[in-house]
Amino acid sequence: MENFIRSSIKRKVLIVDDEMINRELLGAILGSEYEVRFAENGKQALEMLRHPEIDYSLVVLDLRMPVLDGFEVIKQCKADRELRQIPIIVATTEKSAEVKSISMGAADFITKPYDMADVILARCRRIIELSEDKTIIKYTEKDSLTGLYTKQYFDQYVHRLVKYVDNDMDVVELRVDGFGLLMDLYGREEGFRLLSAVAGLVSRDLAVSRGIACRTADNSIYVYLEHRDNYEEIVRGFQSEVSEKTGLAGIHLRAGIYEHIDNTLHPDVWFERARATCDRVCGRYENFTARYSRELHELSMYRHRLIGDMQDAIDNHDFMVYYQPKYNIQGDKPVLASAEALIRWKHRELGMLSPGDFIPLFEQNGLIRKIDGFVWREAAAQVACWKKTYGVSVPVSVNVSRVDIFDPKLPEKLSELTGEFGLEPHEFMLEITESAYSNDADGLIAVLKDLRGRGFKIEMDDFGSGYSSLNMLTTIPFDVLKMDMKFIRNMFRDEKSLKMVELVMDIASFLNIPVVAEGVEEQRQLDVLKQMGCAVVQGYYFSPPVPAGRFEQEVIKSANI
Ligand code: C2E
Ligand code: CA
Ligand code: CA
Repeated sequence: MENFIRSSIKRKVLIVDDEMINRELLGAILGSEYEVRFAENGKQALEMLRHPEIDYSLVVLDLRMPVLDGFEVIKQCKADRELRQIPIIVATTEKSAEVKSISMGAADFITKPYDMADVILARCRRIIELSEDKTIIKYTEKDSLTGLYTKQYFDQYVHRLVKYVDNDMDVVELRVDGFGLLMDLYGREEGFRLLSAVAGLVSRDLAVSRGIACRTADNSIYVYLEHRDNYEEIVRGFQSEVSEKTGLAGIHLRAGIYEHIDNTLHPDVWFERARATCDRVCGRYENFTARYSRELHELSMYRHRLIGDMQDAIDNHDFMVYYQPKYNIQGDKPVLASAEALIRWKHRELGMLSPGDFIPLFEQNGLIRKIDGFVWREAAAQVACWKKTYGVSVPVSVNVSRVDIFDPKLPEKLSELTGEFGLEPHEFMLEITESAYSNDADGLIAVLKDLRGRGFKIEMDDFGSGYSSLNMLTTIPFDVLKMDMKFIRNMFRDEKSLKMVELVMDIASFLNIPVVAEGVEEQRQLDVLKQMGCAVVQGYYFSPPVPAGRFEQEVIKSANI
């Protein structure tokens, strides 16, 4: 890396002298290694040094000058918190002045006339090195586990490099996806062995002559390096190499890349960008890497905003529960059977937001439990209200996210809620999405058994949307199968698609479980479903989800009031 600094940087040196010949001589000597700038007197020098965007590594200062002399420059620099950091070498002919200037804080001196170019260059180089090392030396350099830099040292290092590097640079966050989980699974020691294996590859292939890397507090790796194009290939290679080396299964390496970094931004911003990008690619299987883009930036800002706004929205009653009717279609005329409660967010600035915008987000960070708790309570109160007002029971089904299922108190809480509003458990149905059934089947089975034991009816939502296996249908206890909307959407596309719907109906009939078809929009879909023996239908054909007040009209109609 030191080579990297030497080769790609040009530190700036300010030469201050009122005599042109001196400026030119010194400029010729130092110009071979540094970017040289000139000032003709002390006043001009101070102005240049105070420029907010230009950092100087060294000042070579003449002492006798008009307007403002060298001593005054030293004095003012030493009194200034920022300028104090820049080393000053005085250039003079007088012995006595040397002593005085050094005692005032100058770092070294060179004597005029400038005849020994090598000596002058060596002295300047040394003074710059000394001053840079002083700022960085107080941090521990290397992380003992991985051999990469420590985060603090790395931060200092990057700050220092930024000033000089003109090359096209990238920053990368490399992460072992689900590292915490792997630590639980294999133990801390294995986890750290894995991390240091990854770090080894980073040192070998990424942080070589033109990059540096560190380990972060949450066990990912940051790299600051010269731009390259083949990250996807590199990370894929790392993954197979590290899997083979450690013998651990299920390792997924993911990287977020912020390339062609904008040098006017603070380095912290670069790494935040790489991190937000890495978040996007974690937990997914298509790609090993993602690149930062403006759209991604806006999306992550938008998400942050929604998360930040949620608690206020709950307090201000900006969340609302809509109801969508489900009709029983088995008889001559469709009959209102129940409703599904669906959340809506009437955002004060962004307008009406649909659950697709925020539910996945809140599932990721656990906030969904609050939202669901709110919906359940609203829905339970609503069912009780209709019962009391119109004497009819309209069961409502609520959505139960897979995050809710991990709550050991879930069955108890739901019993308490229905008890509080005087509802029978079958009046409060639970829709659990199919993807919840894929991980931890045993835990889920136990929870569902408990819930059914208390009288709750379970609907398997989005059946056929992805993860389910036929085997699951026989091992997981549930009462109703909700066929995923896409079966209905595609049912007339070709013969195979229609057969799929038929197949789902057959399986349900074999298991003796009623089917709810959702997303029904057209008469002909309804007709065919009815023919196939589908019991209940939900969809725009009858009604979109509507506010409680509007749904009440349906309740009144169906009760013949
Ligand atoms: P879901 O549970 O599958 O809900 C059905 C979705 O289909 C609803 O979208 C509904 O408005 C929409 N839909 C109903 N009929 C039709 C139709 O005929 N055509 C079309 N194209 N769409 C129809 P919505 O309300 O936007 O909700 C989306 C998803 O968000 C829901 O899918 C559910 O997974 C989730 N969600 C909604 N509310 C809650 C909630 O309170 N808690 C949790 N955990 N998830 C919720
Ligand atoms: Ca649902
Ligand atoms: Ca569904």
